Amino acid sequence: MAEHLASIFGTEKDRVNCPFYFKIGACRHGDRCSRLHNRPTISPTLLLSNMYHRPDMITPGVDSQGQPIDPRKIQEHFEDFYEDLFEELSKFGEIESLNVCDNLADHMIGNVYLQFKEEDQAAAALQALQGRFYSGRPIIADFSPVTDFREATCRQYEENSCNRGGYCNFMHVKMIGRDLRRKLFGRYKRFNSRRSRSRSRSLSPRKREHRDRERDYKRRSGDRHDRYERDGGGRKRRESPRGRSRSPVRDGSEERRARIEQWNREKEEKEQNQPRED
Ligand SMILES: [Zn+2]
Ligand SMILES: [Zn+2]
Repeated sequence: MAEHLASIFGTEKDRVNCPFYFKIGACRHGDRCSRLHNRPTISPTLLLSNMYHRPDMITPGVDSQGQPIDPRKIQEHFEDFYEDLFEELSKFGEIESLNVCDNLADHMIGNVYLQFKEEDQAAAALQALQGRFYSGRPIIADFSPVTDFREATCRQYEENSCNRGGYCNFMHVKMIGRDLRRKLFGRYKRFNSRRSRSRSRSLSPRKREHRDRERDYKRRSGDRHDRYERDGGGRKRRESPRGRSRSPVRDGSEERRARIEQWNREKEEKEQNQPRED
């Protein structure tokens, strides 16, 4: 019996635990769901709910005045956000993945999933995010049960064939360009397989297990990072096939520094306004 329950945990057959919350970390029924949402008390993954506000919030591709927006502008806006967040949160540890949803339903729009290498890094980041604001809105962060994004993402979306569109209940992960991906994730040298192989002898058992899982996954389905890398070359995508691969270099952008400063200022102001314990 226990074995049976374990085998159906978080699947459609499980009448107790919500499969959507379990796999995707978000369910359209929210707190009114008839099945259980088991919130983890610790996880390497954080969910920052509804954090990314796209410039075409009301209708995709169109601004609030009804004017079409250049897809390159939309992508640039997104990549600025992505880079801000990455730089700010990589202070807490190695970022394993940073996924932002392109979905439109309320429970998923603008959701950011941030997976660290280690749980304690996620815990430190979560603590630091408490009471912080981004672009004038409070950041709502929590641990997420999602650790395997293959289970959470929509395969059809990646193949450009999801007919549920923005209201799909699986993650539609927004892509970043090859240059930005290399700039941000390249620092971890994960792409250099030869070097990481020679270093891997000194890995802890837990890391070794993780690496083996990762390798196994790569064998089965091709590395996700490699798939992103291929975006620039040849494969046609729905939006802005040219813009994606040509993200302009925004090293040391004044504007971005200003935004991060504002971000920190808001935090300081908030702290100053809070009553002290002593
Ligand atoms: Zn649910
Ligand atoms: Zn889909």
